[in-house]
Amino acid sequence: MERIKEKLVKFMTGRYGVDQLYYAMFALWVVLTLVNIKVDSLILMAVSDVFIVLAIFRGFSRNISRRAAENDKFLKVWNPVKRKVRLFYRRIREIRVHRFRKCPHCKKTLQLSIKRGKNTVKCPRCQEKFDVHIIL
Ligand SMILES: [Zn+2]
Repeated sequence: MERIKEKLVKFMTGRYGVDQLYYAMFALWVVLTLVNIKVDSLILMAVSDVFIVLAIFRGFSRNISRRAAENDKFLKVWNPVKRKVRLFYRRIREIRVHRFRKCPHCKKTLQLSIKRGKNTVKCPRCQEKFDVHIIL
């Protein structure tokens, strides 16, 4: 067992390994494969296989700087999406306690306690004041 582990470590030395793009491609492959069970399309199968082959290729690649640059490009797109999805679920989770409004000056999303009606709010980031109207 120790020898296998040693060989594996030696094999992976200098290779890129896994990153966020790897996990995204793997997840996409899983989703497309599950959809393909229902749809049974040859094209969909080929597309999903491209994702898993690319993910494996990236993991074993020795061109680390290029793989890291690809991951950075992916994260520039993925992180804003992730932030919006997290905020969406947080809004639902805290719907009884807080409301979330964007500051019109600096565009930061503020968490406000529920005060129904028209209120003036001071943004903690840019110190500007603006009106918010909370109906429900
Ligand atoms: Zn602000």
